[in-house]
Amino acid sequence: MLDELEKVYHNEAKSPELGHDEPLDGLIMTVLSQNTNDRNRDAAFNNLKAHYPDWQSVANAGADELANSIRTAGLANTKSQRIIEILRIIHSDFHEYSIKQLAKYNPDDMRKYLLDLPGVGAKTAACVVLFDFKLPAFPVDTHIERVTKRFGIAEKKLSPEEISHYLEGVIPASRFLGGHVNIISHGRAICHSRKPDCKNCVLNEKCDKII
Ligand code: SF4
Repeated sequence: MLDELEKVYHNEAKSPELGHDEPLDGLIMTVLSQNTNDRNRDAAFNNLKAHYPDWQSVANAGADELANSIRTAGLANTKSQRIIEILRIIHSDFHEYSIKQLAKYNPDDMRKYLLDLPGVGAKTAACVVLFDFKLPAFPVDTHIERVTKRFGIAEKKLSPEEISHYLEGVIPASRFLGGHVNIISHGRAICHSRKPDCKNCVLNEKCDKII
């Protein structure tokens, strides 16, 4: 599956979520991405960055004020409270508004730390580990869940977190990033949620088509 997708999508990462100089940017961006699409997430993140010169200013803002700048991401009140709380915890733990010190942790401990932050679930934590720290993790979003279940490599009953765990066990770590971005590209371009374009799919012959 990954070989076929690589021929079509070339492991090309087109999303701005894929790596930041400051991994805290990636963490906040993934918090903003919850329950919304990339366009709204990016608009909210760019607006937040335009309003506040640094993370300290965000931490000092009131939740209501911050909510106004991230409104396009949806659930603005909840997300603003979580972001301020995340910044408070991070500053308390690392004495700076940065999570670069997490690079000293092993990937499992890094993931555990991230999962303990408010509003950070398995996908968010795995995205930060993979994209911002370039360490092994296989985040599973709705596209990856849909394509892997239809193809037949992930059992229908598995949760996204369980699929992530399973894929991390069977795929070589060197292929996590490419595999992740290619399956998402395929879900967006061909294996649509409502009407998969099986006729034009490079996986057609090998796919179980569990729809
Ligand atoms: S053959 Fe159809 S169901 Fe299977 S991956 Fe391709 S588009 Fe999706």
